Parts: sequence; C-alpha cells; structure tokens
Amino acid sequence: MRFRSKTPTRIATGSLAIGLVAGLALVAGAPCVSTAYAEEATELSPTKARPRDTYYPNTEDLAPDEMRVIACGTGMPTTRMKQAAACFLVELGNGDKFLFDAGSGSAERISALQIPYNYLDKIFVGHLHSDHFGAVPEYWIGGALMGRNQPLRIWGPSGRIPELGTAAAMDAMQKMFLWDITGRVGNVDPRGYKLEVNEFDYKGENQVVYDENGVVIRSFPAIHSIDGAVSYSLEWNGLKFVWGSDTFPNQWFNKYAKDADIAIHECFIAVPDIVNKLGFTPESALLVGTQIHTAPEAFGKVMSEVKQRLAIAYHFFKDFDTTAQVYKRIRKTYDGPLSLAEDFMVWNVTKDGIRERMAVVEESTWSPPTTRPNVAPSKDDRAKFAEMKGLPAEAIGYSDFIVSGKWNVDDVLRPIYQEASEAVGRELPYPEK
Ligand SMILES: [Zn+2]
Ligand SMILES: [Zn+2]
Repeated sequence: MRFRSKTPTRIATGSLAIGLVAGLALVAGAPCVSTAYAEEATELSPTKARPRDTYYPNTEDLAPDEMRVIACGTGMPTTRMKQAAACFLVELGNGDKFLFDAGSGSAERISALQIPYNYLDKIFVGHLHSDHFGAVPEYWIGGALMGRNQPLRIWGPSGRIPELGTAAAMDAMQKMFLWDITGRVGNVDPRGYKLEVNEFDYKGENQVVYDENGVVIRSFPAIHSIDGAVSYSLEWNGLKFVWGSDTFPNQWFNKYAKDADIAIHECFIAVPDIVNKLGFTPESALLVGTQIHTAPEAFGKVMSEVKQRLAIAYHFFKDFDTTAQVYKRIRKTYDGPLSLAEDFMVWNVTKDGIRERMAVVEESTWSPPTTRPNVAPSKDDRAKFAEMKGLPAEAIGYSDFIVSGKWNVDDVLRPIYQEASEAVGRELPYPEK
C-alpha cells in the first residue's frame, strides 16, 4: 500500500495529537488526505485557544481564491440517520454557492450549515432518483420559509422522452404540492415559491449548462439505470470540481474529469455486504453492485485513469465493518489521494493544498438572516395566484362550511395584534371576517 504525498496539505497546527490521529487513521485504513507527520510542538497556553482542526459552520471566512466543499449527503436510498442521500455543497471565494444533487435527508444537513437561503438558490441534479433529488421539495418550500425570497433555480437533464426529463419532474412536483402552495399564498412572502427550471440535453458532451460570474459548469452523460443521467464539472479561478452523481465507469468521466482538483465518483458497498446487510440475492447484489453502480475496484480503476488531485468516494454506508472492504478493494486499483466521504466532511481547496476536516454542527439551528427584507403578504396575492394557476377563486381560503366550525377565540387573539402593533409602532389590523 503506497500513499502519494504529491498533494500538498495544509495542516492547521503542528499539534502532535493531530499528527497522531492522522497517523492512526492511516494505520486503521481510514481515508486521510494528509501523509505528513507533525514534528513541531505547538506553543501551549492555559488561557489561549489552540488552533483547531474542526470546521465549525459560520465561523470561517472563505478566501477569494478558495473553494470549500461540504458533504451534505453521502448515503443511499435506504435511509438512515447517520448519512443522508447524495448532496454536495460547493462554496466559492467569489461568493457563489452550488448544490450538486439534493438527495432525501440532505435538507437538514444544509440547514445545519447556517447559510442564508438566498445564497442557496442553485441546484444541479445529476439524475432523478429519489436519493439524488428527493430533498428538492424541502429546499423549495422549506427554503422559502427560511428566507429564500427569490426563485429556486434547478438544472437537470432531459430524458429519452419528455415525460422522463427534469422539466416534467419539476412540473409534477409543483402539481403534487399545489395544496401546499395554495394554502401559503396570502400568508407569507410568495417570491421564494417560484421555480426556474433549466433542462438540458442529457447527451451533451462537456456542454456548458451554466456560465455566470466566472463560473462555468458543464454536463456530460453518465451511465446509470436508464438514459438521462449526467455528471457535472465546475470550473472557477483555475480550480475544477467534478460531481459524478451516479454512474457506471464511462469514457466521458475519464475524459472530462481529467485534471480535476476534486473528483467525486460513486463507489458502492462491496457485493458481499449487499447480500449480508441489504438482504439482496447474490444475483441482484452482483447486478446492483457492479453493473448499475460502480464497484470499489472499478472506482479505483476510474480514478487511476483520471488522475485528479483528490478522489472522493461516496454512496456507501460507511460503518466500522463495511469501510475496510471498500477501502481494500479501491486500493487494489488506485494508490492516489483518497477520501471516503461521510456526511459533514469538509474540503478546503486552493491551488496550494487541500485540507480535509470534519464539521461539527449545531442541531438546533433557526433560519439564518435573509439577505433582503421579506415583503408582507398582500390581499391580492391569492387572486393573482388563482389566476396564474387557473384555479377558481373560491378554491383558495376557507369555505363557509369550514368557517362555520371555528370556535371564537377573538378575545385572546386581538390582544396579540395590539401587543404587536405597539411593539412595531404601527397599526397591524386584526383580520375581519
Ligand atoms: Zn441513482
Ligand atoms: Zn444514488
């Protein structure tokens, strides 16, 4: 087993403890970007904080030439608390942020990062499996309530027929949530419920699907499940990030992921564990684990071909008894820098180095501040919405039947309006029947 040290790694401190932890991680076969040993002693003080090797969201500035990548979902469609399904956040030193896939369960991870939601308005979907876009409704609706008062922008591939494309899926999502949105209109700022859907040809090879503010995102075909899956590359400021989403090893990834600073490719759990842990038949485990998805040995072969600075494997349940199998099998075919991703792993990328850490997050987060003021709901919102959706006006709001069931609690609610009016110094009128 060899570890290349050609990727310079900045380690935050010269702390011997951290050096030891890194060393132990290597011995245990766990992934670690660093191959350096810290030899300088850190000057200690009983009253001063020591440099930390943990990422605490909302405590670090991003340098103008820096990219930060955070794993917000590294798991599978079989849901679990420890790992949400596929989702990676890319933050750039120019202020732009991009989500690549938004698998089920990832919305909670994103909220733990305490990022204002207007900055989280761009999602690039690799394919339409629930473990890659299942959280889109949560971002769309929950994100709007958490301060994204501008449209959510979605990019995704076409299918072989229009019904199987991203535009059809987003259209169906809006139909599915019609009751939800209809009930919110007139009560909250409606601007965040607009969707901007950008569907592109899944067959496009290295086609530019986004080009704004010095950031170019390209798509190329992936081979997964049926036609209509893609991978993406993002290039900015001389740095290149590649998101494979799900794919069988393919010539497009080999070609267009070349020279990536960070290349993320799926890597499924080893076939014996698919049988033993997931209960698949051997026939099915072989098909799913080697033909639909990428086996660890094949992941290693891809990464040896692509020669990126750092290879990141995701899409397996990373447990004490599955990780060694994945790692050993990758190392049969790849000996370069490698991370086995889990949720809240963080990579800071510059031309000089890649620093890998774990984030420690708050569970009890609230909406971060919005970047522009919310507007108060207007009485016209409902009428406008009904017209836009072609709904009869009387379908919005309560019928006389439901109103007849209300119990009169005006006597306790009116004082709440009075209290609020006094606090803000203007009249907030109590809604009359
Ligand atoms: Zn998939
Ligand atoms: Zn998947």
